[in-house]
Amino acid sequence: MNADKIETFDVVVVGGGGAGLAAAAEAARLGRSVVLLEKNPQLGGSTAWSVGSMSITNSPHQLKRGIRDTPQEHFEDLELLAGKYAPRDNLQLRRILVDNTTDIFEWLRGLGLEFAGPMLEPPHRYSRMHLVLPNSRAFPRYLGRHCARLGVSIRTDTRAERLIVEGGRVTGVYARSAGGLGVDYRARGGVVLAAGDYSAGRELKARFAGEEVAQLEAVNVTATGDGHRMALEIGAVVVNGDIVRGPIMRFVPPSHDRWILKLPPWRWLARSMRLAMDHLPDAWLRPLAMSFLTTALGPSLELFKHGAVLVNRNGERFADELAAPARAVPRQPDKAAYIVFDHKLAQRFTAWPNYISTAPGLAYAYLADYRRNRADIYHESPTIEGLARSMGAPGAALARTFNDYNGAGREARPALDMAPFYALGPVKSYVVFTDGGLKVTERLEVVREDGMVIPGLYAAGSAGQGGLLLEGHGHHLGWAFISGRIAGRNAAFNVPPK
Ligand SMILES: Cc1cc2nc3c(=O)[nH]c(=O)nc-3n(C[C@H](O)[C@H](O)[C@H](O)COP(=O)(O)OP(=O)(O)OC[C@H]3O[C@@H](n4cnc5c(N)ncnc54)[C@H](O)[C@@H]3O)c2cc1C
Repeated sequence: MNADKIETFDVVVVGGGGAGLAAAAEAARLGRSVVLLEKNPQLGGSTAWSVGSMSITNSPHQLKRGIRDTPQEHFEDLELLAGKYAPRDNLQLRRILVDNTTDIFEWLRGLGLEFAGPMLEPPHRYSRMHLVLPNSRAFPRYLGRHCARLGVSIRTDTRAERLIVEGGRVTGVYARSAGGLGVDYRARGGVVLAAGDYSAGRELKARFAGEEVAQLEAVNVTATGDGHRMALEIGAVVVNGDIVRGPIMRFVPPSHDRWILKLPPWRWLARSMRLAMDHLPDAWLRPLAMSFLTTALGPSLELFKHGAVLVNRNGERFADELAAPARAVPRQPDKAAYIVFDHKLAQRFTAWPNYISTAPGLAYAYLADYRRNRADIYHESPTIEGLARSMGAPGAALARTFNDYNGAGREARPALDMAPFYALGPVKSYVVFTDGGLKVTERLEVVREDGMVIPGLYAAGSAGQGGLLLEGHGHHLGWAFISGRIAGRNAAFNVPPK
């Protein structure tokens, strides 16, 4: 297809999430002309969807608490976190990650970002998890502003469709704006693919992770793996494509943003929050943490061990709750389910260690938190009939489900027979993110199956994950920013002298 227009830059970056913004900023810092293409109306991608946790070594926050941490210890702890997948990890990229967390954290803080922490998440041997304040939307806000100041040309509503290859070298990207204008964005130095993961990319999920995963909804519905697809079309390969975070049951999101996500990412506000988190008693901070937690997370499987059952919109049980029930949810009407229980179980889930949801190391949400923060998914009634009405399920069917369960269906689990009765839902099964990334070198150059570099093409973040395992919490964001800067730097250095 012929372009309506040709524009030429030193570096073309595809994607305006954490990796793309870091790449663009780095190339611009080195004096290059940079264009960043973002298909959505706003910057942010999954980076702005994230909880905002980053696992960092040697942060000022750690030092203040007397924690003496090292990249080598972080490297070893990542092995523990990787568990059964450890033999499939890319150790060169893991080394790059752990060697650069201190610097990336200082870079982000230097741009004005504020973090709370550190918090402990075993098997990390030290508290390493830091949380951006007031929420993860601060990332695109601060990095976007930094890029604009450095002169990066940011084009939102502009979808990259395919790579331009000439003489075996990537020389640009063909992209289309929301208005339909087709532009060849030519790159003298290189193209950086930072288009995120394929959690919402049906074909890529089917190809790499199987049909069952392909059926699952994604948290970020615009993460369609365009970067992976464009690179695959010219001979690149995906590593660890079957490793996905999901299916995971999560409560459906509220119909509009909760107040915590609406907090503007102003620095004075973030700083006040950090001071409050450092000095105020936990009881004062709980409402804040809870509002966030009950927006973003899913139910603990402990609920089922203690007797809760899963029913669909017809009020029917459909799975063994103790055997990976998340897999069965997508086959139910509207791909939705409800967690149903009685007063005995409700009383149990009011205090540690029986929580409904957790962001590990950060906070725990109990039933009362859901009653307060998520009235839209919280159902309670003195009768089963009333509970069914609140859920929009047929009363007779739900009553039958309770009877069957209390009769023969519960094995060793307690009966659900004490009023009032409760339900939380709808829940759905999601893919939160996919870990398959394009095979890359340590310079973030994209390579073919045989290891030969595709000249002019770089990848970063989820697109450039290259077989690196990022288990636990807070490593994906670190990788996005770190790999983005490296890819941007190398694409900038690749510009031929005039
Ligand atoms: C709910 C949730 C919570 C998470 N919490 C955490 C956490 O607390 N800590 C952590 O470390 N990780 C977390 N993650 C993972 C982390 O957010 C991502 O791995 C990381 O942000 C990926 O960054 P990225 O820049 O590669 O991709 P993204 O941030 O997704 O950016 C990719 C960008 O590319 C754009 N794009 C895509 N295709 C095109 C195209 N064709 N043309 C132009 N633009 C395009 C997208 O619109 C998007 O803006 C979480 C993820 C989710 C979904």
